[in-house]
Amino acid sequence: MSTPAILAVAGDHADSPIELLDIDLPDPLGHEVLVRINVTALCHSQLHHLASVRKRRLVLGHEATGTIDLVGPDVTSVSVGDTVLVTWVPKDAEQADRAGRPASVKLDDGTMAVSPNVYTWGSHIVADEMYILPLPDDIDLEAASLLGCAVITGAGAVVNTADVGPGESVVIIGVGGVGLCALAAAVNVGASPVIAVDLDDDKLEMARSFGATHTVNSSKVEDPIAEIRSLTPGEGLDFARQPVAGADYVFDCIGKPATVAQALQMARAGRYTIRKGGMAIVVGVPTAALQLPPGPLLTGERTLIGSIAGSSSPARDLPEFIDWWKAGTFDIGRLITTRYPLERVNEAVADLKAGRIEGRALLDVPDRNATS
Ligand SMILES: [Zn+2]
Repeated sequence: MSTPAILAVAGDHADSPIELLDIDLPDPLGHEVLVRINVTALCHSQLHHLASVRKRRLVLGHEATGTIDLVGPDVTSVSVGDTVLVTWVPKDAEQADRAGRPASVKLDDGTMAVSPNVYTWGSHIVADEMYILPLPDDIDLEAASLLGCAVITGAGAVVNTADVGPGESVVIIGVGGVGLCALAAAVNVGASPVIAVDLDDDKLEMARSFGATHTVNSSKVEDPIAEIRSLTPGEGLDFARQPVAGADYVFDCIGKPATVAQALQMARAGRYTIRKGGMAIVVGVPTAALQLPPGPLLTGERTLIGSIAGSSSPARDLPEFIDWWKAGTFDIGRLITTRYPLERVNEAVADLKAGRIEGRALLDVPDRNATS
């Protein structure tokens, strides 16, 4: 048996265009399930995948909602008919030991297209149940698709990687989809002030509506680091006999060498023997070697740490984020600012690359792919 599906497949060299291909997906084996995709989203990670040097074609996308059509014989955590989230992060430690194997799809010409874990840009996916979480019945399935990457990455970085507490100061550099999720989480845990930094005034306006207490357009101020220091005065003098200033936590949701270096310097200096410095958290995917000023790291006793998928365990963390959503303090639906039919996926990717997508964009799967 097999299921006719349509999948977005990118070519076998960097920046080749995406085609929609008809593919027969095999029935799920072992811990695999077959999910009929409802809606899926675009993320900067896919831009990195598309730009990668590779030998094989790619299947893409890693956050979606859908319905389970078939389950393999060893599946225990979900059932046929369940409404589910597809994510790329193993949902709990118990199942994570099956992670690390790439997903692959056999194309009509006999070659394989691959993904590191899941592929949600299409009508269906066969995936290990470790990437599939049941969703509550009363949830908006379009907004819920963002739980699979944007939310766990941004909110998880605040709650898990940094463990921000009430009254602590937070800076978010880059307030696209992931940055807004980090910002919303900082607001929900009671951080203050919560400062958004970006180059785009529209994105900063959006950040204010998500609870940012201050915004800094780093293209319009002379020295963004000085700007943050003036908004976050501290107590006493640092190792270099300068007044302590800077945020307790700075989340860099861009990942460029320049923004990582800025994040480190926007974090508060420590006070030698009295208090350690602030923390800079790299959330955006770095694509080049980092260059850091040595003083702030050593004498400021700042911490520089990476956060992949918000150090999240989705089964543990998503209920809290969904509670915020239901309480009205984390409006995930407002993160969706653009949508495209799957047929226009190349246009969607070009818009994301050009920075034309303010929050998060969705891809709608065409009706003709519903299971008959
Ligand atoms: Zn992602």
